[in-house]
Amino acid sequence: MRLSTDLSQRQRFSRDASIFEVLPEAVAQPTTPEELSELVHFAREHGTSLTPRNGGTCMSGGPLTEGIVVDMSQLNAVGEVDEHNRLWVGGGTMQTQVEAVAHPKRLFFAPYTSSRDICGIGGMIGNNASGEQSVRYGPTSRNVARLRVMLSDGHTYEFGPLTREELACKVAQSDFEGSIYRRMSTLLEQNADRIHHAYPHVPKNTAGYALDELWEGEVFNLARLFIGAQGTLGIVTQAQLKLTPMVGASRMIVVPIAGLSELAVTVQTMLSCKPQTCETFDHHTYELAEQYHPEDAKRAQSARGKHLVVFAVYAGADQVQADVQAGRAKVLLERLGREVLWVDDQAAQESFLLIRRKSFRMLLEHPQPTKRALAFLEDTIVPIAHYGPYLAALEEILAEYDMTYTYAGHIGDGSIRLVPLVDMDDPAAPERVMELERRVNDLVFAFGGSMSVDHGDGIIRTPYLERMYGAEMVALFAEVKALFDPQNIFNPGKKVGGTLDYALQHIRRGNR
Ligand SMILES: Cc1cc2nc3c(=O)[nH]c(=O)nc-3n(C[C@H](O)[C@H](O)[C@H](O)COP(=O)(O)OP(=O)(O)OC[C@H]3O[C@@H](n4cnc5c(N)ncnc54)[C@H](O)[C@@H]3O)c2cc1C
Repeated sequence: MRLSTDLSQRQRFSRDASIFEVLPEAVAQPTTPEELSELVHFAREHGTSLTPRNGGTCMSGGPLTEGIVVDMSQLNAVGEVDEHNRLWVGGGTMQTQVEAVAHPKRLFFAPYTSSRDICGIGGMIGNNASGEQSVRYGPTSRNVARLRVMLSDGHTYEFGPLTREELACKVAQSDFEGSIYRRMSTLLEQNADRIHHAYPHVPKNTAGYALDELWEGEVFNLARLFIGAQGTLGIVTQAQLKLTPMVGASRMIVVPIAGLSELAVTVQTMLSCKPQTCETFDHHTYELAEQYHPEDAKRAQSARGKHLVVFAVYAGADQVQADVQAGRAKVLLERLGREVLWVDDQAAQESFLLIRRKSFRMLLEHPQPTKRALAFLEDTIVPIAHYGPYLAALEEILAEYDMTYTYAGHIGDGSIRLVPLVDMDDPAAPERVMELERRVNDLVFAFGGSMSVDHGDGIIRTPYLERMYGAEMVALFAEVKALFDPQNIFNPGKKVGGTLDYALQHIRRGNR
């Protein structure tokens, strides 16, 4: 195993796509589960910590640590697709490796993130990532069948769906695994009412631990707990993915939105016809595309000058079926008085999708000398019905801060990616960023939403978990953490124990 304390290597792993910078004490690169197990024992004996890292594209600071970064890139073996379209992969497998196996079989991993060429499966599990097709296929949690996870005793355990009888057998075990099942099922039973009322009614939420999703009907599934846990309970060494067949044909419709009050009904109408994708981007994003992807901007020129556009893709076994679905949505939208553009050209359809996917990337890849694109308001979700008033209130708050910003998002699920450009050479900027984040989070909570959709709590949002869920739920999260990881060796400060002070101290200053 490679273990490096070399400064340049540590610096390489001190950043992700978040606003933070944290220098680790070392970087380890295990090549086998046995080496990973040695690391766990090392961390326990030496009082240090292990933070797994996959693609390092996290936007919340999830893979940043002062302890040891565990670069999972060597644990990336990809198995064979079985007859149920399931595929075992290593916890450090990149999404592109999965695609290389799945696409020739006309299958794909449905949480199709905009970052899929640079992120990995362990990280997607860590954050419960989702993407442009999640409105139909759900986030990562719905597309993972089973997990093998290394826990704090240095052993790997397999987690997946259990019947009540199977759970009873696990609970009866006298080992570490048995104690976990015993204490988790008791914790859920004793706090059932509290848990039932604590979570927001939105299609996607990765704030805290998913205690509300461990029971699904009569099935108990502890694998779900690790999804969205950001490596704080154990390290995923292998995952069995559920792959999805690709659709035969698709048709896109685009609706320009002049005022935010039109947004909610437009999206709800699109959703009533069951799209594969329902996304949005604003005029700032389009203007960036004109600069950096001029050909795509030209093909998507119906977005020019519009406050924002919402587009939906309808799928079918063949073109006729896809057109029938899209046609139904078009009729309903026109009845509401919306202008609906029917996208005939496949290249134009791809251009709309590309501009949406690149919304954040264009800002990252083309930094401005006096401003930096900061991800700290990019992961909010509120129920679709509140979207118009929520965005109007959000724009009012933003107007006080003299910041340019873009937004785009998986609007079909109700999630919006808002990315402001901030002059980080200004010494007062970090405090302003934190203040703005608090105000926007409070607004999200007031509208019954969540601050963490699929980018994780990380350093940026962990301190706000108590504001979102209340002290009793946060105490439950701490209990879960202590049960799995009593010595706090796995990714400390994320999900449990993160503070605003720590966040403020680690915001990267400057515009570079
Ligand atoms: C340009 C851009 C576009 C993006 N678009 C999207 C999008 O459309 N949808 C979306 O959901 N996200 C998006 N993201 C955010 C990010 O790409 C996703 O959250 C992605 O899933 C992170 O994967 P990663 O491999 O980079 O993980 P990392 O950044 O390495 O890690 C993410 C978290 O998972 C934990 N982790 C990593 N490996 C393991 C493991 N083996 N076991 C347990 N925990 C582990 C880490 O500790 C960390 O907390 C985007 C980011 C960028 C930069």
